[in-house]
Amino acid sequence: MTAKGWMAMTTLAAACWTAKGEGWRTYEQTLTLTFESEAQARDAAVTALPLPVGKKVAFSTRWDDSSPEAVAVAKAAVLAEYGYKGTFFLNKVDPAYGENVIRKFLAKGCSAGAHTATHPFLPRIDHNAMFQEVLANRIAIESCGDTCVSTFTLPYRAFTSETDPDRPRAIGECLVRAGLNGGPEHFADSATKFGRSPREWIGALEFSIDDRNPQLDKFEANIARGLKAIAGNSLECGPHLALGTHNWQPDLKAFGEIIGTQANHPDWWYCNANEYVAYRLQMFNTAIVKKGSSGKTAIFAIARPEPFELGDCVPLALRASAGARGAVVDGQTLTLDAARDFTLPHAAARQLPDRIGAVHNEDNAEGEGALKADSTLPALQAALHVDLARNALDLQIKNVSQESLGPLHLTFRLPLKWKRGVVKGDLASLKPGEIRKIPLALGDVETDARYEAGTYYFAAQCDYGDAAGAARLHATASVAAQVRTIE
Ligand SMILES: [Zn+2]
Repeated sequence: MTAKGWMAMTTLAAACWTAKGEGWRTYEQTLTLTFESEAQARDAAVTALPLPVGKKVAFSTRWDDSSPEAVAVAKAAVLAEYGYKGTFFLNKVDPAYGENVIRKFLAKGCSAGAHTATHPFLPRIDHNAMFQEVLANRIAIESCGDTCVSTFTLPYRAFTSETDPDRPRAIGECLVRAGLNGGPEHFADSATKFGRSPREWIGALEFSIDDRNPQLDKFEANIARGLKAIAGNSLECGPHLALGTHNWQPDLKAFGEIIGTQANHPDWWYCNANEYVAYRLQMFNTAIVKKGSSGKTAIFAIARPEPFELGDCVPLALRASAGARGAVVDGQTLTLDAARDFTLPHAAARQLPDRIGAVHNEDNAEGEGALKADSTLPALQAALHVDLARNALDLQIKNVSQESLGPLHLTFRLPLKWKRGVVKGDLASLKPGEIRKIPLALGDVETDARYEAGTYYFAAQCDYGDAAGAARLHATASVAAQVRTIE
């Protein structure tokens, strides 16, 4: 295609396609507060709380690696028995693992996280391999478990390199580009270590108590240390403690008895990592704007991130200013406690995808012949094609059902060579039988040769609605990186 022809095509595409950059997609709710006096309504204010109503500590547990079925299910059961939740950070998964393990721990209130596809030392592999290890792993877990994956833990806790001081930042960049938002590590300042803002990457203060022979005194000492840090407000990750373990224990009885000593604290939020990360991102990224007051009522517009972006539907806790007596969001009455704290749920229509699929364009083929559907989502066919000569991606999507699909939220994830990182855009709908071809100019590139080794892996994530609810399809493609001529 000539340069002029390409320009015409991008202009055409732009008419129905708006790239939004990396910002969170948000939606708006209307909050009406009633006060004891008109003056209080005029001065009304609302602030987001760092934890759910009445909670002072968030406590989660971290379980690494794809444990055998019986072990993973037993862990979820012992956690549930004592009122705890866990996040299972998985490597290799397949549909049977999704059915026999992931669904079972999800049913106990646990969540799935990413831990790379093949458990490499990330600092020892090339940048493109790092990105694929992280992103392909997230896509595989999501599609095998039909659950959102928003958290991550490092294999071997490895992120630094003596020969490459930039490696921690590059790992952080891979994680955020892959759609991951946080996760527990042995250090509470993982955002800083990964070169990200603490408002963007959400960690935990994680500790272990001996994976082979769990020790009550270690549990107690680490909790005392964690509670002290939380009381001093000294943790970058906020008030989040995480117990990290592997599946090396001969039985879980001793483990259960140890965690049982800290069960049922009324001011602890026993959560999983995905819930904490989604909560804290909401707290930082929800805009609360007062629209005005009338008599004893004040009205606020609340723009908050879409649950599918956060990976969890956890509600947000808010505190109203002095004199607040009642709160209503979009017609639903909310309960205020004595401190004027209340819980703001997501709108009922904002659901997480509960059917997630993936299609890989095996040969990076072009044309409608490359279109494929995942068996979970037969209505939507997709094919992602990489064209390095044009420095562009082409995403094709086709609705092969009898009903209209939409809206469709597209999120492109690019390897580190491309500066754009994540590109978002939305389509209103895809009619029955309709096919859309969406070209994406990849834009400016990094010239450093370390981004040009191995294989480029690209993904387009499509979140959309159909008659059955919310769904997500990942379309992926890979091509050999360009080999630079040595001059
Ligand atoms: Zn591991």
